[in-house]
Amino acid sequence: MTTFTDPKEAYPDIREGVRALCAGFPPEYHRKVDEARAYPEEFVDALTKEGWMAALIPEDYGGSGLGLAEASVIMEEINRAGGNSGACHGQMYNMNTLIRHGSEEQRRTYLPKIAAGELRLQSMAVTEPTTGTDTTNLKTTAVRKGDRYVVNGQKVWISRVQHSDLMILLARTTPVDQVRKRSQGLSIFLVDVHEAVKKGMEVRPILNMVNHETNELFFDDLEIPTENMIGEEGHGFKYILTGLNAERTLIAAECIGDGYWFTDKIVEYAKERTVFGRPIGQNQGVQFPIAEAYVEVEAANLMRWQACRRFDAGLDCGAEANMAKYLAAKASWEAANACLQFHGGFGFACDYDVERKFRETRLYQVAPISTNLILSYVAEHILGLPRSY
Ligand SMILES: Cc1cc2nc3c(=O)[nH]c(=O)nc-3n(C[C@H](O)[C@H](O)[C@H](O)COP(=O)(O)OP(=O)(O)OC[C@H]3O[C@@H](n4cnc5c(N)ncnc54)[C@H](O)[C@@H]3O)c2cc1C
Repeated sequence: MTTFTDPKEAYPDIREGVRALCAGFPPEYHRKVDEARAYPEEFVDALTKEGWMAALIPEDYGGSGLGLAEASVIMEEINRAGGNSGACHGQMYNMNTLIRHGSEEQRRTYLPKIAAGELRLQSMAVTEPTTGTDTTNLKTTAVRKGDRYVVNGQKVWISRVQHSDLMILLARTTPVDQVRKRSQGLSIFLVDVHEAVKKGMEVRPILNMVNHETNELFFDDLEIPTENMIGEEGHGFKYILTGLNAERTLIAAECIGDGYWFTDKIVEYAKERTVFGRPIGQNQGVQFPIAEAYVEVEAANLMRWQACRRFDAGLDCGAEANMAKYLAAKASWEAANACLQFHGGFGFACDYDVERKFRETRLYQVAPISTNLILSYVAEHILGLPRSY
């Protein structure tokens, strides 16, 4: 007989553990952090101490050796409890790049310290101001000089740099006119953030709509030891895709967590709020947008598991990761709209947390990849239509 697990309750042990931790950090905590535009230090510390931030690190290196599916449940539960995984999800998706493509020496040097909470690997520097989504056209260069690479250029929207010890950096090591394809000649490096700020990396915070610590970075002859290159020179774009697919899948799970938070919150409110002598939730005009958003969250969740399964099996999951992120970001946004709309004026009051979560989930229509670019990917790579850009 086939047994079915409810997709929104899969991995019950992990959910139980994360829910218990999150119960100690209720929405008021996240609201206060948001109001103060602060970093949720205590929350991230608690996640680290309980080992959740080391979920993906193999047991040999001090972690729990779990897969992306389990990691996605951790991220989902944080958002479902009213928090925002954006403060710490970088460590989850960056980890895969280091685990899958780093050398044994790099794994031995960094992973046990990350697992013990002594180091954080929360940042990944890809986006640039002049090239944006056109990633392979990026302008930051890393030129080899003896046992160092010298980095010059600029990045933008690089998150959690001020709360991370390590950062993965994508830079061009072979000039674009000397490679056959633009995706060649790019390399990735593990940057020691504290050393870098002393020696040629300037960090300028960007104040933004969400309480998301993100920055402009300026590189002026920053020297990185050659042993900090991850994998082979010139193959960095292929390696960074591992991190990007993990990132898209994890963010899909976060949007699903948001989607359930919004639908639960508005269902509760719509049952209680009485106008014209009856609960507002009795009106189909109120019910239908909530029901529609819920249907979409549930459907997006199925694609999220498909992406997780393929990633954990070591299969190509570009299509599923992109589609999961597209569906989940759209569903959470529809749920956010319905939640705000049917809270009426109260949706705008910070005390209800709706406006905060509304801002937080809106980000995922744009970052880490915009909906348009996902549709272009599907059109070109899945449907075989001509490249549009
Ligand atoms: C809060 C925040 C945190 C972030 N954190 C990080 C981080 O940690 N590391 C990092 O590397 N980056 C980060 N990013 C960057 C993010 O990944 C980019 O903003 C995103 O990929 C879009 O790139 P862009 O902003 O340059 O937009 P652009 O590439 O300038 O695109 C602008 C708009 O035009 C549309 N567009 C562009 N080209 C096409 C086309 N060919 N067809 C159709 N539509 C098109 C896009 O869909 C988009 O809506 C972050 C961004 C934000 C806002």
